[in-house]
Amino acid sequence: MRGLMMDVQLTIPTILRRAESLFSKKEIVTCLPNRSIHRYTYRDFGRRTKKLAAALHQLGIRRGDRVATLCWNHYQHLEAYFAVPCMGAVMHPLNIRFSADELAYIVNHAEDKIIIVDEVLLPLFEKFKQAINVSAVIVISQSGEPTPGGYLNYEDVVAGGDETRFEPFEGDEHTAAFMCYTSGTTGKPKGILYSHRSIVLHAISMMLTCVGVGITESDVVLPMVPMFHAGAWGLPYNSAFTGATQVFPGPYLDAESLLQLFEAERVTFTGGVPTVLMSILHKLDAHPGRYKLSLRCIALGGSAMPRFLIKAFHERYGIPVLHTWGMTELSPLGTTAVVTSELEQATQEEQYDHATKQGYPVPFLEIRGRNDQGLVPWDGETPGELEVRGPCVAASYYRDTESHSKFTADGWLKTGDIATISPDGCIEIKDRSKDVIKSGGEWVSSVALESALMCHPSVLEAAVIGVPDEKWMERPFAYVVPKEGQTISPAELKEFLTGKFAKFWIPEGYAFIDAIPKTSVGKFLKSALRERYEREGG
Ligand code: AMP
Repeated sequence: MRGLMMDVQLTIPTILRRAESLFSKKEIVTCLPNRSIHRYTYRDFGRRTKKLAAALHQLGIRRGDRVATLCWNHYQHLEAYFAVPCMGAVMHPLNIRFSADELAYIVNHAEDKIIIVDEVLLPLFEKFKQAINVSAVIVISQSGEPTPGGYLNYEDVVAGGDETRFEPFEGDEHTAAFMCYTSGTTGKPKGILYSHRSIVLHAISMMLTCVGVGITESDVVLPMVPMFHAGAWGLPYNSAFTGATQVFPGPYLDAESLLQLFEAERVTFTGGVPTVLMSILHKLDAHPGRYKLSLRCIALGGSAMPRFLIKAFHERYGIPVLHTWGMTELSPLGTTAVVTSELEQATQEEQYDHATKQGYPVPFLEIRGRNDQGLVPWDGETPGELEVRGPCVAASYYRDTESHSKFTADGWLKTGDIATISPDGCIEIKDRSKDVIKSGGEWVSSVALESALMCHPSVLEAAVIGVPDEKWMERPFAYVVPKEGQTISPAELKEFLTGKFAKFWIPEGYAFIDAIPKTSVGKFLKSALRERYEREGG
């Protein structure tokens, strides 16, 4: 017997309608490239979004067509985030940190039909435009300079759109709405194609997950994570759904600019990767009392979070840091280290220990771990590759013949992350499966060593890789970036790690370098360190 409820599809137009009608006076604020502030309301945003959708239709975009963006975080990007899926087409933000060759590959692979480009990113676009075939290029001009010949001006396009002709998508919620390519450190980038349903469910799960930390109407949300990386973690859709004020930093993602914006706009919630947070902490420490912050939560993810960062933000500045784990394939939020009622009774130090873990699965997500012997017990000790499934998890990659190797026979996604799972379902990521170090047959966690090394007062960054060893097959080797003006010796670091880990975990080899190579989204690029070690040795 079927239930007798309305068959209303979970689509992005439902988020747009809610934002426009319930939160019409709430603001969307952007720091423009000339550092002036642009602000308008959700009502203005809704109007312009519909005009953009109508204009894109006039330019030939139809249901299912892909529209790419090459943009920073700003209000026009948000308009595209809504206009494109709300007209039934597929929004496709391009990662501006990919190489020109990769970008050309991705645009061609996705068969993007139109591309919207920030004026400040035209030099990057020019590098690959000859290698792609799009029917129109729309330039968001922030300087007031005339748009170069052959390109359309974004404001002219929006002005020419007739909002009364906008036809919101009302079809099947499983229809594609948004796509992102992962930055994988090996092989070609892979496309993940989200549906309307997965985006709406993800926005709901973000609200539910963070009870006590979750975004509400009274929040002022600033995504530090770029809108071209995993849909800015879903924050734009989530904020529009809840009616939170949105603040966009434009191209300015340095600590000083972010802190100024946090203060001026009274930002309450932000999210980003540990490297950005680290630079914010250094800035705060260097100028005590300079910034008056209203932040009530910083959501951190993308890489493991060193304990000292969590502690420093909380103890010195009273700001709780919420550690999250996710993947582009998961829309992207997977787990959050929320404080459970049981943990509320724990000591502060125990709570910091907990916050260093990646936490509990978000609603709708199921998890399990697997090693050579099969599924691992939830004992908080036995590591295994994390497998996940849920309605916001990719079921395959876009036009990829090797997709199947990433999924189990019964349809779970193999995350490539090695984790332990506690009896109550809290995960702790120990490594990427390709970064695992086995010394004398025993497993060593590079993530744990890195987090510990980065707690040393003279260390800015540290990455640990496995290097060949005649006796033990493999040994951990640490690349360390000292803080400016500081020197450290290997003996000092060994001493610092002693007692924190089993003896065989402690690296004998250290190299001091200027910077850890990073991926396009700011993660340690260990493959580059392994190549360096092969070239130069220790
Ligand atoms: P991406 O799809 O680019 O967001 O990368 C996803 C990968 O980032 C995951 O599979 C993890 O390896 C890593 N990652 C994300 N969040 C965390 C975290 N909190 N701790 C450790 N690794 C993380």
